[in-house]
Amino acid sequence: MRVVAAGVPGVGKTSILEEVAKRANYPIVNFGTLMFEMAKEEGLVEHRDQMRKLPIEIQRDLQKRAAERISGMSDVIVDTHFTIKTPSGYFPGLPRWVLEAMNPEMLVVIEASPEEIYGRRMKDATRDRDVEGVDEINEHLQVNRYSAFACSMYTGATVLILKNNDGQLDRAVERFMEALR
Ligand code: AMP
Ligand code: MG
Repeated sequence: MRVVAAGVPGVGKTSILEEVAKRANYPIVNFGTLMFEMAKEEGLVEHRDQMRKLPIEIQRDLQKRAAERISGMSDVIVDTHFTIKTPSGYFPGLPRWVLEAMNPEMLVVIEASPEEIYGRRMKDATRDRDVEGVDEINEHLQVNRYSAFACSMYTGATVLILKNNDGQLDRAVERFMEALR
């Protein structure tokens, strides 16, 4: 099955997927890493968190090329974003051409409370996360849900809303595994 898993930065998507990859025999592809490898090689950025500040047409071009690389894969979970917060507003991570290239059957919206996400971002020194308040995080969570259902209408994919609350990573992984079976 082709699966897209996404959520706001700091929700713990990569942690969940690393655990799912260990338990299931599913290859995980990080969309941002595919984009970053190209962007770095082309001298556009040095850090992955600089990509969302690039001119939109450049982000869109990197996005298209990353989607093409995924289009040939069959069973895969793609770690990505429904929307990316850029200086010019929410940039869709899954516009029509990306959906057509990836053709997902299931969309997983990973969520936690805005307060939990705020706390996790504060603790993660490895990333250059945007400094956002709880209200802004909450808006982004809502925008991602709208976006997931727009993608669902376009592809016919199911939408699984997966909670990753503090101290319950195992439960989230278990629910994800159940959906894959
Ligand atoms: P991540 O490590 O998942 O936070 O992704 C790093 C960066 O990759 C994001 O901040 C975006 O700039 C970019 N990215 C990831 N997925 C997409 C996508 N589907 N469309 C556009 N940009 C993306
Ligand atoms: Mg990640």
